[in-house]
Amino acid sequence: MGYFAARQAQTTLPCPKCGQALLVERSCREAHMLCPHCRQRFDIKPFIARADEALERFLEGLYLDRI
Ligand SMILES: [Zn+2]
Repeated sequence: MGYFAARQAQTTLPCPKCGQALLVERSCREAHMLCPHCRQRFDIKPFIARADEALERFLEGLYLDRI
């Protein structure tokens, strides 16, 4: 238990509602997008197709974590 991957990362993907940059956040096994402006969570699936570098790196960390 010495290693902790980040639980949140800033992405450049815009919020579908307000256009602010979204955060990616993970709870236990699921990751979702979080808008710090409207305080809304979004399903991550539609964002994966156009993931930026920050999101890709976050997801890599998520998968590595499960091994
Ligand atoms: Zn928003």
